Amino acid sequence: MWNYSQPVKIIFGNGQVEEIKNIMNIEGWENGLIVAAPNFISSGLTAKLIEESKGRLTAVFADFSPNPDVAEVDACAALIRKNGHGCVVALGGGSAMDLAKAAASSALAGDSIRNYHGTGKALPPEHLPLIALPTTAGTGSEVTCVSVLTDHELGKKVPIVSENFYPDYAIIDPELTYSMPPYVTACSGMDVLAHAIEGYWSKAHQPICDACAIQAIRLALKYLYRAYLDPNDAEAREKMCEASLIAGLAFTLPKTTSSHACSYPLTNIYGIAHGEACALTLDYFMRVNAGNDDGRLKELAQALGFDDVLELADAISDLKKKLQLRTDMKDFKLSKEKIDELVQTSHHPNMLNNPVTITDEILYDLYNKLA
Ligand code: NAD
Repeated sequence: MWNYSQPVKIIFGNGQVEEIKNIMNIEGWENGLIVAAPNFISSGLTAKLIEESKGRLTAVFADFSPNPDVAEVDACAALIRKNGHGCVVALGGGSAMDLAKAAASSALAGDSIRNYHGTGKALPPEHLPLIALPTTAGTGSEVTCVSVLTDHELGKKVPIVSENFYPDYAIIDPELTYSMPPYVTACSGMDVLAHAIEGYWSKAHQPICDACAIQAIRLALKYLYRAYLDPNDAEAREKMCEASLIAGLAFTLPKTTSSHACSYPLTNIYGIAHGEACALTLDYFMRVNAGNDDGRLKELAQALGFDDVLELADAISDLKKKLQLRTDMKDFKLSKEKIDELVQTSHHPNMLNNPVTITDEILYDLYNKLA
């Protein structure tokens, strides 16, 4: 048994950032707040959007960091309430989009997002309309019902899942990604691969998401390295945006699994960027899952032109090296206690979606190999 639904209206193409004002006009949304990654303020894009909106966009919030903190969401929600904003436009990577999603809901809930962060408490259904424009390729957050937030005070990074978080519109304008530095291109591109691969092998896999996953993996394997080498390679940028979008569709229902579960403590404790943290364990878990494959992984590898799953895992290992991403944690000089901590904190609920049961023994093997 499976269900599929996808409520986000998607607009894709170079220059489509211009559509924001038209959408706001059609929908009658006013007094919009732009939540923007800081580089789009210095590039002048936010000022241009505000000017062209002829009063429909009125303010910018950019006071947040990568892996946004719950306190930053609360500050954005307070600004929304103070200014009486009528909609939110998210312009940035996963960090900007996730913060905007959470603030657009908690502003109307009237209390702190902390009350919903890893607590199991559901947000009330009221939320402000949201337009998401990803500028990395990427998290796929523009089409997911997920907002990943960090509580640095409690040392906790966890996703909140809510129907509220589906944006009303996703505008994917590949030109917005050209300014990504190579390291951000590499990290966010490996996140695309992780989403598609984990969505595919998740216990909750389903045919529509499988089809998206296979195509997203194919595109990322073909175009990520090109986008990394040449930021202005228009075809590679466009294809990576396509991969990111459809990888988002591939995992939002089946959910992510082992690599994402491990990525949360790897980012939280060691500050490893999200996509790099996912990539660090992706090939390892592929080999683990290949050991107990019901045939689906082999089918995936062959659909992608590999002889078997181990060859696909090798291709992922090679890609990480070409992108100059970390392949171990030797520089952290992990003690036995630090490995114990990583094993314990990797047992995030998403781990239960992995097709092979991930035991402490497997996690000790993983972290001892990386140490
Ligand atoms: P990010 O949003 O944290 O951005 C990384 C850095 O790149 C930031 O400094 C940002 O300002 C900068 N940046 C973004 N776009 C740029 C551009 N076009 N040009 C120049 N600089 C740019 O990175 P990300 O990988 O997109 O997002 C990671 C976050 O998203 C993590 O917190 C992760 O957990 C979360 N995430 C969310 C989902 C979801 O479904 N909600 C899925 C995967 C990951």
